[in-house]
Amino acid sequence: ISLANQIAAGEVIERPASVVKELIENSLDAGASELVIDIEKGGRRRMRIRDNGAGIAKDELPLALARHATSKITSLADLEAIQSLGFRGEALASISSVARLTLTSKPEQQNQAWRAWVEGRDMTAELAPASHPTGTTIDVEDLFFNTPARRKFLRTDKTEFAHIDELIKRIALSRYDVRITLNHNQKVIRQFPAVTQAQALTRITKVIGRSFSDAAMAIDCAHHDVRLWGWVVPPEACRHQADAQYFYVNGRMMRDRMLNHAIRQAYGDTLTDERSPTYVLYLELPATDVDVNVHPAKHEVRFHQARQMHDFVLQSVRRCLSDRVH
Ligand code: ADP
Ligand code: MG
Repeated sequence: ISLANQIAAGEVIERPASVVKELIENSLDAGASELVIDIEKGGRRRMRIRDNGAGIAKDELPLALARHATSKITSLADLEAIQSLGFRGEALASISSVARLTLTSKPEQQNQAWRAWVEGRDMTAELAPASHPTGTTIDVEDLFFNTPARRKFLRTDKTEFAHIDELIKRIALSRYDVRITLNHNQKVIRQFPAVTQAQALTRITKVIGRSFSDAAMAIDCAHHDVRLWGWVVPPEACRHQADAQYFYVNGRMMRDRMLNHAIRQAYGDTLTDERSPTYVLYLELPATDVDVNVHPAKHEVRFHQARQMHDFVLQSVRRCLSDRVH
């Protein structure tokens, strides 16, 4: 079986937020500690991400735009113990086939920055010298300009931006150490300074709000090499349709049915009248015990020991909630 067949089907570029997600994951994979995200018109006009990561060398720029060119996996063994966020080597190629993508980058040891873009029907990469500090800027303009059918499915700028904003919040809660700025139509919308793990609640307050951090109870449970830590809000403080449900597995945000079920069950019947469990939780386990390559959008995981994981989450959250003083 070829490596390509082992890899789940192509990246899903459904809307502006999916583009932003891929670009940010690349920046994080490149070790960036600062991200500046400029969005125009909900992303349909422009999505530009600047990072201070490792950069891309001049001769690798055309490769970065080519399909199935990834610098991140070389064997099936790598695929099974996947650590980096992106690994299919298709995001940039897919994006540049449905938008005008320009890549500008400078690795630290290179004197000059270079810019690359693809042009024409044969999609050949063009190169030109540019000015850029160490790191990478990817500028994506006019999403779906050449695919009107897909453009039709875009919602209003406001809705598309709301998706991007939610994505940025999820990322902000997964990487406290990364400074993040989000601008929309030249206006600063979010600004999260880098903080240490110990100052996590400072960032959580900025991302979700004081009502969360004031009510949240800390949780930190370990069992063999599995650890669950973070914060849960006791049922009496959970609100209607609370949207603060953030669950990370080895640093990736997940919306997993089985995990949701475990948490919901931990609250039991203490949650009345359609209130929702509210939490920011981090599950950490050996990369080889979990398969993240199940769904192309990477929201679902497959645990090798699903039942045990379900019960561990259930019991940890239940114990935390039952410890509270009324
Ligand atoms: P993948 O992330 O799956 O490898 P992508 O199409 O997303 O594939 O990116 C292709 C390649 O371009 C990456 O493997 C990486 O080498 C390079 N790259 C993309 N974005 C960046 C970035 N922001 N900083 C450094 N390198 C990048
Ligand atoms: Mg990628």
